Amino acid sequence: MTDKNNRTQRPFQIFDNCIDCEDCVNGCPNEAISKVDGEKTLKFDWTKCEGDRCTQCAEILCPASAIEMIPEPEEDTDE
Ligand code: SF4
Ligand code: SF4
Repeated sequence: MTDKNNRTQRPFQIFDNCIDCEDCVNGCPNEAISKVDGEKTLKFDWTKCEGDRCTQCAEILCPASAIEMIPEPEEDTDE
């Protein structure tokens, strides 16, 4: 388990809503969000993200309702 932050939720990008503004990338207090080169797809660093103890990307930073919090999966499969 790479999660050092004991999350019970993690952010999830709702791709169709995303307007590619990068406010989440620039605003995440833990620098846990980056862009996949040339795409609007977000990459989250799960070793940095505090998930439900933060939620800023989903609730404050994103102007387009393009990030929601979802239950933390049992195992990381997308590292
Ligand atoms: S929940 Fe917080 S720490 Fe995690 S990606 Fe969003 S803003 Fe960053
Ligand atoms: S803040 Fe929202 S709309 Fe902007 S890049 Fe991030 S997910 Fe997309």
